[in-house]
Amino acid sequence: MAGIAIREVTKRFGAVTALRSVSLSVEPGEFVALVGPSGCGKTTLMRIVAGIERPDGGSIAIAGRDVTGLRPAERDVAMVFQSYALYPHLTVAQNIAVPLVMRRLSALQRLPLVGRWLPGSRAARRSIREDAAKAAESLGLGGLLERRPAQLSGGQRQRVALARAIVRSPKAFLMDEPLSNLDAALRVQTRREIVEIHRRAGAATLYVTHDQAEALTMADRVAVMLAGEILQVDSPGRIYADPQDLRVATFIGSPRINTLPVEVRGDGALLLAGAALGLGTPARGSLTLCLRPEDLRPDPAGPVEALAEHVEFLGDSVLVHGRLAGTAAPLTLRLPPSVAVPQGRFRLRFAAERALLFDGEGRRVPLRLAAHADV
Ligand code: ATP
Repeated sequence: MAGIAIREVTKRFGAVTALRSVSLSVEPGEFVALVGPSGCGKTTLMRIVAGIERPDGGSIAIAGRDVTGLRPAERDVAMVFQSYALYPHLTVAQNIAVPLVMRRLSALQRLPLVGRWLPGSRAARRSIREDAAKAAESLGLGGLLERRPAQLSGGQRQRVALARAIVRSPKAFLMDEPLSNLDAALRVQTRREIVEIHRRAGAATLYVTHDQAEALTMADRVAVMLAGEILQVDSPGRIYADPQDLRVATFIGSPRINTLPVEVRGDGALLLAGAALGLGTPARGSLTLCLRPEDLRPDPAGPVEALAEHVEFLGDSVLVHGRLAGTAAPLTLRLPPSVAVPQGRFRLRFAAERALLFDGEGRRVPLRLAAHADV
């Protein structure tokens, strides 16, 4: 029974199809990152799971219960969005307690002054205070309980929003770009905290980001979304090394993967800029060979000639930008600092076992090493 089960969800806004039959499940205890460029439909999908938006078709189940027709409050999900949405007039402790107040106190018990004297109110309020303090403590907010949001830093505000999300132990967490308002250092630190919170809570977490580094470092599985469709859902390692679609290969990885047009000889051997690569395929037509920048090395005996045009020193590595000799195809190599940086024309080899091949429709096709391959 999945924590979150999204089945064939479709959504249109007038002429725009924001989601095309999207299916995705997140198991209890699993952290799934939904990653894709701006406008691909991530937020729309989250809003549908949360119940803020209605799908045109398809269904949503949380912990095995179909919630498609239910209001947000009736779904057992907690949301953390980019804007912290804290109540400015409430203290940190009161902000964190809001979901508990709504659940554990009746409308009468919530009344100011009178509500306190109703039966059961004092005990319920005490348990709420204790649980809110515990959630605050677990996020390092213990000393800030009496402050108001305006007296907190951006990072602290986001932690209050996270504490408010975990305080009532929901079945599912939805997080939409929760780190995008934080500076780079704080973002990296808060990444770890969110994963830690997720582990402790054991709920199903669906986390939206346009930042692939965030998706790859935090998630158990990554779902890559483009133009309203989920193209692949896989472990971070497989999304990077084993993409099944050319669009996934080019979206994931920085610098971008090299995409080189190759020809197929009658016997299936691949030719790159006229040179035989020692690689073969049963596929036909116009094919694209993809090679990660870190899988290329200068080598005087290599099968391919390239032209170095521009070098970037990154400290832990060097990027060499150029093109394949005699073509317009751009090429990037990422070299460890120990490798001599090539200049002008140079020959190169690549890690053939990590090369990827795609057909004219962008689908992955088989690639085999020819006997005595020299690549
Ligand atoms: P971003 O990362 O920029 O937030 P996103 O991947 O979350 O983008 P969505 O906000 O889900 O993308 O939008 C998906 C598509 O649906 C976009 O083309 C957007 O313009 C369109 N869209 C979203 N909400 C509405 C709306 N209320 N009315 C009309 N079009 C909308």
